[in-house]
Amino acid sequence: MSMVQYGLWSNCTNSCDFCLLMDREYKTVAKRLNMIASVRENIKTIDWKNQFSDGISLLGGEIYYTESEEVKKAFLELIEDIINIIILPNKKAIYSTVTNGIYDSKILLEPTLDLFKKYDLLDQVNLNFSWDLKYRFHTEESLQSMIKNTNLVYDKYGMIPLVQTCLTQYLIDAHLNGTFNLFDYQKANFPHTELSLLYPHKINTGKEVPDFFFTRESLFRFIKYLKSINQNEIVQRLIQSVTNSSQFKYTGLWNRDTLYYKNKTKKELHQKPTLENKQILTECGHSQLYRCYADSDKCMLCDLLKVL
Ligand code: SF4
Repeated sequence: MSMVQYGLWSNCTNSCDFCLLMDREYKTVAKRLNMIASVRENIKTIDWKNQFSDGISLLGGEIYYTESEEVKKAFLELIEDIINIIILPNKKAIYSTVTNGIYDSKILLEPTLDLFKKYDLLDQVNLNFSWDLKYRFHTEESLQSMIKNTNLVYDKYGMIPLVQTCLTQYLIDAHLNGTFNLFDYQKANFPHTELSLLYPHKINTGKEVPDFFFTRESLFRFIKYLKSINQNEIVQRLIQSVTNSSQFKYTGLWNRDTLYYKNKTKKELHQKPTLENKQILTECGHSQLYRCYADSDKCMLCDLLKVL
């Protein structure tokens, strides 16, 4: 997959204990405007036609919430640039993005989709909502907002968004002991969506999160369970999302105005996409990120490929 990913900023007011963000600084308006300006410059330097023809991914924190009209205006200008430089010239290019869906969609989600609609490009948007059974929604109101927004995307724009959630011990147990069924929940709450399970990422909050990382045996039992109810497709999508996680690591900027990149020279600030060097490969050839079992240092991706 030849796509460039930009992590814009870590700002998110949801404070999940299981958040994977390393940078926990809440970016000021000035820093966010600077980031947007950097990305607008950076995307002009990329060969979208030949080298990164699959398009662009924008991530946060949460990028579809802002309290600042200035940031909103600048963000939408960035989206217009993305449309004109990347998406419009290439029918294959995708604008991929993710939101927790908690915030009012009128702030930025709808204005962003309205722009793609204006150019008749909604079929080139890959919109993901983050859901979670236990750790993400701290109030019923925030959960209901996420559900409302996933449905709005279908009702207003005719899009089928992807609802993604980390596969956790809690989610596995709830299925195996019969207290919860994701597919029934989907039908009842966001029927016009596709589901995707993600590998449990590293937690960077320093908090203990019980029932998050699953045991190896639990994964095998869960896969067996999914197969027994003919949910092979979701197993395939889990493998695909795990594999993609190790491939979507091109980024257009070294300097993301974070503590880590402070000492880069001016020349290094606006450079062409580069593979982030965070991925440490283990002897099986897969990322260390997939050694994520609670009780084993074996590679989850190797196991998944074997059970296929
Ligand atoms: S919603 Fe996402 S970005 Fe925000 S705190 Fe939770 S895990 Fe982190």
